[in-house]
Amino acid sequence: MADKLSPMMEHYLKTKEEYKDMILFYRLGDFYEMFFDDAILVSKELELTLTGKDCGLSERAPMCGIPFHAADLYITKLVDKGYKVAICEQVQDPKLAKGLVERKVIKIVTPGTNMAAETLDDDKNNYLMCISYSGEDFGIAVTDISTGVFMTTTVNEASKVVDEINKFEPREIIYQEAFEMSGVDIQFVSEKNNTISSVAPQHYFNYDDSVGMINRQFKVSSVEGLGLKDFPACIISSGALIRYLYDTQMNALEQINNVNLYFSDQYMLIDSSTRRNLELTETLRDKKRTGSLLWVLDKTKTAMGARKLRTFVEQPLLRKDDINARLDAIEALNDNLISRDEMREYLSSIYDLERLMTRISIRTANPRDLLSFKNSLKLLPFIKNLINEFDCKIFKSMYESFDPLEDIYEILEESIDEDAPITIKEGGIFKPGYSAAIDEFKMIRKNAKDLLAALEDKEREATGIKNLKVKYNKVFGYYLEVTNSFKDKVPDYFIRKQTLANAERYTTDELNELSDKILGAEDKLYALEYDEYVELREKLAAETKRVQETADDIALTDALSSLSFVAVRNNYVRPDINEDGVIDIKNGRHPVVENMLGNDSFVPNDTFLDNTENRIAIITGPNMAGKSTYMRQSAIIVLMAQMGSFVPCESAKICLCDRIFTRVGASDDLASGQSTFMVEMSEVANILRNATRNSLIILDEIGRGTSTFDGLAIAWSVVEYIADSNILGAKTLFATHYHELTELEGKLSSVNNYCIAIKQQGDSIVFIRKIIKGGTDRSYGVEVAKLAGVPDAVIDRAREISDFLAEEDLTGKVRDLKVNNSIENKVKNKKTVKNEEPGQLSFFGSSEEISIAAELKDMDLDNMTPMKAMLYLQELKKRL
Ligand code: ADP
Repeated sequence: MADKLSPMMEHYLKTKEEYKDMILFYRLGDFYEMFFDDAILVSKELELTLTGKDCGLSERAPMCGIPFHAADLYITKLVDKGYKVAICEQVQDPKLAKGLVERKVIKIVTPGTNMAAETLDDDKNNYLMCISYSGEDFGIAVTDISTGVFMTTTVNEASKVVDEINKFEPREIIYQEAFEMSGVDIQFVSEKNNTISSVAPQHYFNYDDSVGMINRQFKVSSVEGLGLKDFPACIISSGALIRYLYDTQMNALEQINNVNLYFSDQYMLIDSSTRRNLELTETLRDKKRTGSLLWVLDKTKTAMGARKLRTFVEQPLLRKDDINARLDAIEALNDNLISRDEMREYLSSIYDLERLMTRISIRTANPRDLLSFKNSLKLLPFIKNLINEFDCKIFKSMYESFDPLEDIYEILEESIDEDAPITIKEGGIFKPGYSAAIDEFKMIRKNAKDLLAALEDKEREATGIKNLKVKYNKVFGYYLEVTNSFKDKVPDYFIRKQTLANAERYTTDELNELSDKILGAEDKLYALEYDEYVELREKLAAETKRVQETADDIALTDALSSLSFVAVRNNYVRPDINEDGVIDIKNGRHPVVENMLGNDSFVPNDTFLDNTENRIAIITGPNMAGKSTYMRQSAIIVLMAQMGSFVPCESAKICLCDRIFTRVGASDDLASGQSTFMVEMSEVANILRNATRNSLIILDEIGRGTSTFDGLAIAWSVVEYIADSNILGAKTLFATHYHELTELEGKLSSVNNYCIAIKQQGDSIVFIRKIIKGGTDRSYGVEVAKLAGVPDAVIDRAREISDFLAEEDLTGKVRDLKVNNSIENKVKNKKTVKNEEPGQLSFFGSSEEISIAAELKDMDLDNMTPMKAMLYLQELKKRL
């Protein structure tokens, strides 16, 4: 019975011991193999066949393999499922190995470091985030190794960390274990963002080591020069992140050469529910890009521009000057459409310089990549000239510093052959004249090949074998092939090499000699080309930073040109940014709905909000009238303005909003185990706690998920709370089906009623989509149901019931309600608003009314016949 592991297996197990918590891909020839538990796991996860391998022990080791050329795809699948994959390569030429081929782990692939083409979206960054927590401050560092961006910030509240996670939607998060004590449910947040998170080793988060890491990565002698000195949390999280990259990539990361210290108050914070509700980057229902704001705005020509524009959408600006600088640039582009379009023409031929450069700097770029790179660089001087055509600050200063990288272009133009292959080991890479040594070997090869052709002619003549041919294959090298019909003409000096069904293959001494010469020259040529290529790539890698800077200029140019293109095409106007708290939009349109509807059928509407009399708009109107569209369009116009984009309307005055909050319709969070109402209320809670008087709040149908009375009560008190400028005073658009809320207009000075007009035609209604002053006193639910095709019998009956119930006029009661002025005092009397239990507010006068309300609330309508319900209602009525 065998009981000693084979040497290879021994090495495998030793390696596996070091990478216990990952899947080890072990290179054997043309395959990556997995053994034992890894094999079982991977065969299950990827539905691959599980086989076995003799390993020296009595039982075969479970084994499962993947062809190396398809590895990226399988690795990506595993990584997306949350596994980390360690790649153990053969690091020695098997031909040169005496005994076991040397192997070692060269890389660990994780979700945030996976650079396989399949996982990278052109228009999206692939972020990896690291969070440190000292018990006081949180440090956040974020990188995308496929482009080289590296950013860091520090915050002092756990909820702000969640904001940053929502903002970047990183593919992967690593964090200091203490972070679990901060109150953030990291697993929950990760799941919501489709992120994979894990604890990083504690020793990553050592301050001194982190300083060392940063100095080494950014090639500085002190963190002071990077502006990080006063932010230890940034230093620790950045250092830990770099450490993680070293441990996983095991490679120089030259593409990461600058750290950008940012503060969250530089950008408007858009939480994930607002991003979803406003459909900024994908639609709410089917998560498609088509139908989102980005779909309308992104007419960029390059992948870099697309990513830049996405960051514009996801991180609108907060400083008036920054916004106006972008608006100036768009105006300048609009004023010179010929140059703009010429520039966009050039941009459309530019490849993803950022990611190409990264491939160069991590030494994976192949000759074809370099050709794409060269062809892109060729256009840069033209683009630079065009940039000079636009009269505004952004383009002027870009022109000054724009580096057209002409020297790099020259190097590539002189070196890489236009027909260069993807591989780097089989020659054919360089142009003649680039290297004398390469040219010489090419000449030797060519001469030998000419001799080969002469030899073929000579032998054909000498033997009379008409179809005699010199051929080549990898196994036998060069040989002479004779078909069976000429076999008898083969002379003695032909040496047989191989017999096939219909032919024989031979060699001769002369052919052998020539063949050695050719193959010898070829080997040397290939080796030389390989070395030269590696050297060239090194030389280019040294220029990473310059290329990145130009790529960033291109990205910005492209994003701004796209905004200009969309503005002109869709008739957008420049918003007038103010700091006076006024939002005044004339004839605003929803950029996406208008695009979907086409042919000018979108009905434009005004929006007016300010800090005094017009802080809150209560919007009523039947379902389908256009309330959500109207509110979203107002929010989107504000957001677009702060992105620095022109906006879809006739004119717009837009004040700077620090945040936009939205609470829209039924949420799709049911999967997370919370009831719709619970989700709705926690979103409301979040808004009321975090909004400021400079925020814009969009509330669509609050209180729907509970009984009418509770719902109305909550909606009412929420409006009171927001309206009170001593507490909150945020600008708010509030759509509601509780038309009772229109009573608030006369009671609170900042509240105004609006409704979406409809036209009644007989017993039917027509939507005219126009917002007008005033409230509705009816919901027209039955009419909308009729439009939706509910059978006439049901409609008629519903009308009867509705008329009957209308006698019980709830609005009348609400009319008698007094506004609760004591909220403000209540809040003031509490130390913090945040922990306050909502008090019972006396909406319903007498105790009998309160008890009736309670009974109504408990009524089990689902299990009552309409008749019973009616009788019960009559009972209650009598008691009033
Ligand atoms: P509500 O929120 O009142 O139920 P929506 O805002 O969802 O209504 O609008 C319903 C539909 O009406 C939208 O899908 C859109 O196609 C159309 N619509 C809304 N507003 C307008 C408008 N201003 N012009 C043209 N069509 C509109």
